[in-house]
Amino acid sequence: MDKRKFLKVSAITVTGLAFSPFYACNPSSKDSDGGKVPIKVRVGDFRLPDLAYPVEALEPNIDKETMGIHHGKHHAGYVKKLNAAIKETPFERKELLDILSTVTEDDTAVRNNGGGHFNHSLFWNVIAPNKGGAPTGALSEAINATFGSFDGFKETFSSAAKTRFGSGWAWLSLDDAGKLFISSTPNQDNPLMTNIVEQNGTPILGIDVWEHAYYLNYQNKRGDYVQNFFNVINWDAVADNYGKIVG
Ligand code: MN
Repeated sequence: MDKRKFLKVSAITVTGLAFSPFYACNPSSKDSDGGKVPIKVRVGDFRLPDLAYPVEALEPNIDKETMGIHHGKHHAGYVKKLNAAIKETPFERKELLDILSTVTEDDTAVRNNGGGHFNHSLFWNVIAPNKGGAPTGALSEAINATFGSFDGFKETFSSAAKTRFGSGWAWLSLDDAGKLFISSTPNQDNPLMTNIVEQNGTPILGIDVWEHAYYLNYQNKRGDYVQNFFNVINWDAVADNYGKIVG
């Protein structure tokens, strides 16, 4: 990690203590830390974060059964396999952001499950009940400046999500120069993986387009899922992510 990037990542994790993707929360545990430890300082023992809302809260856009399986089985599986994959390797002493910025194509299990843990932690954070609409403030201005308009953003982001072949994600991220960009990655890769992705940056919004994220309700209609995803985007959370990075 070069110095510039290190400073930025440090800034978002140190000042961004409310930034959910960097937390692994487990309030039901009996940890002496009260069950809430930032991913930034947790090493070797990652945890499944709780959802901030009930599994049925996003209906009809994302159904209860999908949410329950997605969080309780899929995300939980990534966490369990990540902990197993890093055991007795140099990754065991690293924080998640450091793992993702140094992981290579050869570290298959760490790449897939470390990505899976970060990506889903971000995903639960940027969706919420009774949200949708459009961003405001500095994020809105940046989106308009980069994509022409909110509709321009929606079109490009939706296209990235719909055209990702097979399993993967579409992202809105900030590059090292603080400029917004949209990209998509296969499987559980993400823009933090410096050694793997074409366009490196810090994601502030992501949509999961694996079939496990929508198939029970939408079957083959990924386009309908992508369209309805805009009804649950928590733009306050995305703006918060943006603000933590831009400062
Ligand atoms: Mn998923």
